[in-house]
Amino acid sequence: MAPAQTLISSKNVAVIGAGAAGLITSRELRREGHSVVVFEREKHVGGLWVYTPKSESDLLSLDPTRSKVHSSIYDSLRTNVPRESMGVRAFPFLPRFDDESRDPRRYPNHREVLAYVQEFAREFKIEEMIRFETEVVRVEPVIEKWRVQSKNPGGDFDDEIFDAVVVCTGHYTEPNVPHIPGIKSWPGKQIHSHNYRVPDPFKNEVVVVIGNFASGADISRDIAKVAKEVHIASRAKEPHTYEKIPVPQNNLWMHSEIDTTREDGSIVFKNGKEVFADSIVYCTGYKYNFPFLETNGYLRIDEKRVEHLYKHVFPPALSPGLSFVGVPAMGIVFVMFEIQSKWVAAVLSGRVTLPPPDNMMDDINEWYASLDVIGIPKRHTHTIGRIQSEYLNWVAKECGCELVERWRAQEVDGGYVRLVTHPETYRDEWDDDELIEEAYHDFSRKKL
Ligand code: FAD
Repeated sequence: MAPAQTLISSKNVAVIGAGAAGLITSRELRREGHSVVVFEREKHVGGLWVYTPKSESDLLSLDPTRSKVHSSIYDSLRTNVPRESMGVRAFPFLPRFDDESRDPRRYPNHREVLAYVQEFAREFKIEEMIRFETEVVRVEPVIEKWRVQSKNPGGDFDDEIFDAVVVCTGHYTEPNVPHIPGIKSWPGKQIHSHNYRVPDPFKNEVVVVIGNFASGADISRDIAKVAKEVHIASRAKEPHTYEKIPVPQNNLWMHSEIDTTREDGSIVFKNGKEVFADSIVYCTGYKYNFPFLETNGYLRIDEKRVEHLYKHVFPPALSPGLSFVGVPAMGIVFVMFEIQSKWVAAVLSGRVTLPPPDNMMDDINEWYASLDVIGIPKRHTHTIGRIQSEYLNWVAKECGCELVERWRAQEVDGGYVRLVTHPETYRDEWDDDELIEEAYHDFSRKKL
């Protein structure tokens, strides 16, 4: 950690977004002594966790004129991380048994997560910093400061100057839709998981689900409850893969990726199998998108890599005035927001200094080179689940905060293995009770 040479100073900071990242970041900034304005274009806190039955008018979300929906949550969604690991250190995500509307399970439903996020906002009085229904439409640097243009609830535009801007706008709203050979003339329905809510529209259909990570594994099983057949296409599987997956309806198969689709409605997999499908559901992830940022081409997105961010947070030449909380994809997301935002707050106050821009750039290039050496494609630059504790501990040391607890790191790694090997049961069956005990012991110790 580089100790600061300058005096600690308070900054005027704009936070964009009042999802979990924006709420947690606002708290950390204020604790450090900064004054904060949070811009949120929706009416409520919670971002992704505010479920809506509505989908976008274009189910693949390709039409730039479509009406946009922020949330990508489906009705049956339960967390893929146990609650004790998911909650932040300042406010553990404890089960509530005193209220029937709450879900006390270890892997609760999405409503329970929203309730927790709302409680966090109330507990730390974050709402008083938020301007709801106010969309940031442009952010640009102006000599040592940042201009933020926003559209207020009355439809008027406001221009304001801030010392710094922290981007907390999430990255699960802009679907990534890969090209499938022959798809232009394939006649069936297509939908991205961003627009998937309930299985009912797929009743009695033959459905192909592309992608087999968290959403793909969940959605294929959700649809299998009502569909005639569901076929998962996974590019992570060997080309010959063809397996029946045990589900009560006996109608779910795993294949390798799709080879081609045809005008007659058929879909051929790399394993040579052919099905005639009614629908394709793309569970193929999302793209980063910061349409309001105007940096004269300094920041750009290339194949899901946000170029260039020092430790996934600071763009070297625009730091520390511009920073991003929440870019990496990993298991312990809320704790990542907590640790990254402590770093941002400390850098902005001058308590911690960043290396010179050239050194940050060297570090970024070394990171890219290290990914090349082990064959990790550019699109996985920010997918850092395999080194999440190492990364978070580096940031934590930099700003002098607590490292990732042993139980939390182990829970998330073990949970990930269970998610891949037992996607049907991992939320209700586990063998790490000693880690849960350690977690709750930790919570009660910190409360004393
Ligand atoms: P968001 O929650 O997306 O919030 C961003 C906010 O910014 C929104 O409120 C939005 O309205 C606002 N905003 C955007 N643009 C603007 C603008 N221009 N002006 C003003 N406001 C703006 N994580 C877990 O820890 N556990 C899980 O079980 C889990 N499950 C998931 C399941 C799915 C299907 C997905 C897609 C993600 C899941 N995640 C999970 C990851 C999830 O992204 C994080 O948990 C987290 O909630 C993201 O928070 P965020 O604040 O970064 O983004």
